[in-house]
Amino acid sequence: MSFTDLGLSAPILKAVAEKGYDTPSAIQTQAIPAVLSGRDVMAAAQTGTGKTAGFTLPILEKLSQGPRPRPNQARTLILTPTRELAAQIAESVEVYSKHLRLTSTVVFGGVKINPQMTRLRRGVDILVATPGRLLDLYNQGAIRFHQLEILVLDEADRMLDMGFLRDIRKILAVLPQKRQNLLFSATFSDDIRQLARGLINDPIEISV
Ligand code: AMP
Repeated sequence: MSFTDLGLSAPILKAVAEKGYDTPSAIQTQAIPAVLSGRDVMAAAQTGTGKTAGFTLPILEKLSQGPRPRPNQARTLILTPTRELAAQIAESVEVYSKHLRLTSTVVFGGVKINPQMTRLRRGVDILVATPGRLLDLYNQGAIRFHQLEILVLDEADRMLDMGFLRDIRKILAVLPQKRQNLLFSATFSDDIRQLARGLINDPIEISV
């Protein structure tokens, strides 16, 4: 299996090659076609498996079609528990999208909110966020989800462990009903399954 067999287009394949990857990992082989199919996806995968590219590459492929983001709108929301993870995912998004005309930004707590509000003003194709700061930005009117196409919950088990369930529920309540949902978690506890039930429709399930 190679990246060229997975349905990704030239600008993305070029970025992947430049990053030095020659073979897709197990999660990538399964997740990339699943996400491209448009179905919801539930994946059991630890950090280190290549899951970030597993969801980011097909998301970039999908976003390369479709309308530009309007001011203060995001087309994809990636929620993740910590600022370190948020920064890492945002860095990966930058690298993989360098030959595409897509925009992205990252927001997390513990730093000034105003520069984040400024960066959201033009709208973004991909927003990477931690839940608490995202809600603050939402409550201040800096982000809206009328154009949201894809939601990713990354490290969902850690988000629940860190007490983000209430924040996640508040965020889900302001997203459009019609969207694609991707849920990544190292483990599938009863809590995760319960969260998934209210969120995911007829998913493709992946486990590596
Ligand atoms: P992740 O599980 O997404 O945190 O990725 C773990 C590490 O694997 C990161 O340093 C990636 O750059 C690297 N990586 C992801 N996909 C591949 C691949 N197909 N070939 C080689 N390295 C990869």
